[in-house]
Amino acid sequence: MSHNRPGVGMTGFASMAPAPVAQLAADELDDVERAARVLSGKRLAVLTGAGLSTDSGIPDYRGPGSAPRNPMTYQEFIGSEANRRRYWARNHLGWSHLRHADPNAGHAAVALMERRGLLSGLITQNVDRLHEDAGSVNVVDLHGRFDQVICLENGHVFSRRLIAAILEEINPGFVAAALEAGVVEMAPDADATVEDPELITSFVMAVCPICGGTLKPDFVYFGENVPKGRVERAYAMVDAADALLVAGSSLTVQSGLRFVRHAAKAGKPVVIVNRGTTRGDEFAELKIELGVSGVLDYLARNLPELPGAKEPIGV
Ligand SMILES: [Zn+2]
Repeated sequence: MSHNRPGVGMTGFASMAPAPVAQLAADELDDVERAARVLSGKRLAVLTGAGLSTDSGIPDYRGPGSAPRNPMTYQEFIGSEANRRRYWARNHLGWSHLRHADPNAGHAAVALMERRGLLSGLITQNVDRLHEDAGSVNVVDLHGRFDQVICLENGHVFSRRLIAAILEEINPGFVAAALEAGVVEMAPDADATVEDPELITSFVMAVCPICGGTLKPDFVYFGENVPKGRVERAYAMVDAADALLVAGSSLTVQSGLRFVRHAAKAGKPVVIVNRGTTRGDEFAELKIELGVSGVLDYLARNLPELPGAKEPIGV
């Protein structure tokens, strides 16, 4: 089940510098030039997934060779206070000890495409906010964002940083005690493993600072629907585009795959750049099995200008 989970767990933390742009070999260049021919002169909607952020050191749990995970579902989180406490205790520890990742050449390339007026918009399944860090403006964060927390009662929104400060204040010494007890194993995504049940039971959760409601990280859990307005905004980007470029997603979850179906049904060419099979391959005019950063970098630099540039959708 974990490999089907949209975005959750990828909280945007890493401990390595972004990888440099991969140099394309001659045969790879052939593939990328074919993609450029399909996309040339067309306004693009771009859909990105975890494969784009692996060069920033954020693990892709659905990629080949990824470690099996057992993430909490929406129903588990909502249905049990004990589950929520365990979740927040782990997340608090992880947040306290890992630094934020940096955008890589792939993120920079997508931002360049937008500045050049080539995009109708960008839809990302990643919650790490690296597209925004790289300068992308017109972005739908389809599965939410790691740096925000929402109140389930009244929809109040807070920065994760503020909630971290509150958690620190109401759990003095918790992080130090966990580290001292040696029960914490840091995962690269801030989802720390805590094996001490007593320590977890002692953890005090924060409530909404405005209404006292239950707090939840602002990303879409497995078993949870993407908010309707967000989906509609993403469809509008595809409708305003002449082609769809998918980069670094295996399209395992329907929340992303539906945009590929939608584009294909409208007769718009779909180009997929991803290592490994995707569920959207049958809809693609062209599929390229290469690293995404190098391909996006090439396209951002080599696609021709569009005649009569229109304003991007949703800005
Ligand atoms: Zn509230």
